[in-house]
Amino acid sequence: MNLGILGGGQLARMLAMAAHPLNIKCLFLDPAADACAAPMGNLLQAAYDDPASLEHLSNECDRITFEFENVPARALEILEQSVAVAPAAVALRSANDRVVEKNLFHQLGIETAPFAQIDSEQDLLQAAEKIGVPGILKSRHSGYDGKGQAVIRDIQGVEQAWKSIGEVSAIYEGFVPFESEASIIAVRSSKGEIRFYPLVENTHNNGILTLSIPSEDHPLQALAESMVSKLSNELNYVGVIALELFKVGDKLLANEYSPRVHNSGHWTIEGALTSQFENHVRAVCDLPLGDTSAFGPSAMINIVGKLPDIDAILKVPGAHLHLYDKRARTGRKIGHITICCKDRVELKQRIEQVSNLINID
Ligand code: AMP
Repeated sequence: MNLGILGGGQLARMLAMAAHPLNIKCLFLDPAADACAAPMGNLLQAAYDDPASLEHLSNECDRITFEFENVPARALEILEQSVAVAPAAVALRSANDRVVEKNLFHQLGIETAPFAQIDSEQDLLQAAEKIGVPGILKSRHSGYDGKGQAVIRDIQGVEQAWKSIGEVSAIYEGFVPFESEASIIAVRSSKGEIRFYPLVENTHNNGILTLSIPSEDHPLQALAESMVSKLSNELNYVGVIALELFKVGDKLLANEYSPRVHNSGHWTIEGALTSQFENHVRAVCDLPLGDTSAFGPSAMINIVGKLPDIDAILKVPGAHLHLYDKRARTGRKIGHITICCKDRVELKQRIEQVSNLINID
């Protein structure tokens, strides 16, 4: 079977590594000549909406998927006319529009921060007065890792915030005083079967994920599962989906969802019976879903900006190094490390040890 993947970054690279033992060959479409997935399959170097390349993909591939949100939904819609595409373009479209996304959560009874659609400075002023400050103004489209956002601490900050995001259509959200950030990753098949990975607690630095720790018997697991079930059933979703959450007391508020494999699920490569990458490939290719249970305590630490001392990392017991073959640059994710341990005490020590080696903060 041939699987076409829009995007040729590290997520495509890890999808292809999971597809390989299943005899599934990957063809990536990416405008970059140095797309890091390329050594794991064949690269079609062209724009995502290049008609000839889309036609080539639909002729060569049995299934199509995508690895990140910045591919145009239009390209998926064109492909959908001639080949099976999963997740569907509609799941990408709503994830790419913060207003549509939040309205969808609301309509499904999935709790979120209070929010309002903003199309002018006047809208923003009204929303800040009604919802209150502090709050966050986020551009409606193309937000990623905290970009296109401005925190409003008092009403006087409205004008500056509106200017700083470029006076574009946006959403204003009340600031959530969360205790922690979490994510739930699920996989859904075309027949509607859903499986869930354990709820993951996430730590960010400058808007970039640095550490993910899957929990064990988390008291909010069932709530998180019901939230992501509602969402994926509504979208008739096929593949892996990640829902990012804020934990506030015994509540979970949805922030956003990603219609793809997710950074906070990288631990599943060594830490779960079936990785998120393999399960995504299985779902998209209509194969039986795999067990999503964790083997035991584990954690994932991102390598951002600078290559660490590789020998030192490899000497840490239970540490698995994944490098993406990407040039190091400030703020760029160039790899990750999964740590697997026998117990949580040891895990804490190993996280500290590895974090010190990569200068996490
Ligand atoms: P996002 O681009 O929506 O994922 O936001 C990036 C980060 O900003 C999140 O991971 C949170 O740390 C923070 N954030 C976003 N929205 C809110 C909110 N409504 N309240 C508090 N913090 C937020």
